[in-house]
Amino acid sequence: MTPTNTPTSACCPVCGTQFPYRSNKVYCSAGCRDLAKKRKARAKTPANAANSTERHRVQLEKFDLASRLAESLYTTPPARRLGFMQELIRGAREGEAPKVREVLTCPVFLFPDRDRTALFIRGCPDAYKTIAEAANAYCRTFWGASVIDVVKGLTPEPETGEVFEMSLAA
Ligand SMILES: [Zn+2]
Repeated sequence: MTPTNTPTSACCPVCGTQFPYRSNKVYCSAGCRDLAKKRKARAKTPANAANSTERHRVQLEKFDLASRLAESLYTTPPARRLGFMQELIRGAREGEAPKVREVLTCPVFLFPDRDRTALFIRGCPDAYKTIAEAANAYCRTFWGASVIDVVKGLTPEPETGEVFEMSLAA
C-alpha cells in the first residue's frame, strides 16, 4: 500500500533545491542546515536587539502563526479544506481571532515575494500558497470579495451555507 500523501521530493527552505523526500531531512545539505541554524540563532539575538526586541518578537509570532496555519491547511484532507477555511475566516471576521486576522491581511503573506521561500511551507512557493493567499482565493470564490474586505466586515455574508456544501461536492 502506497501512502498517497507522502511527498516524493522536498524543497530546501534555504536554497530552494529539490531533493528526494525523507521525513527526517529538512535541508538539502549540511551547508544549508548550518546556515539555517545560524540564521535562527541570529533571529533570537538580533544585533539591534535593544530597541527592536518587542517588534521582532511580534514579527516572529506572526510568521510562526502563518506557518502553522498553512501547515494545518495543507495537512487537512482536501475534502475538508473548504470547511477549514470557512472556520478560519469566520474567526477572523467575528473578532475571535485578531492575530489570525492580522496574518490574513498582512501584505507580507498576502502578496508574498516568491523568492522568500521561507514564507512557504516546506519552502516551496510553487506548490503551496501562504495562508493569506489561500484565504484570499477562498474569499474571492465564496464571498466575491478580497480577504481584507471580508475579515474587516466590509462585505455582506454570502446568502446561505448551501453554497459551501455544493462547492465541496463540485
Ligand atoms: Zn539547500
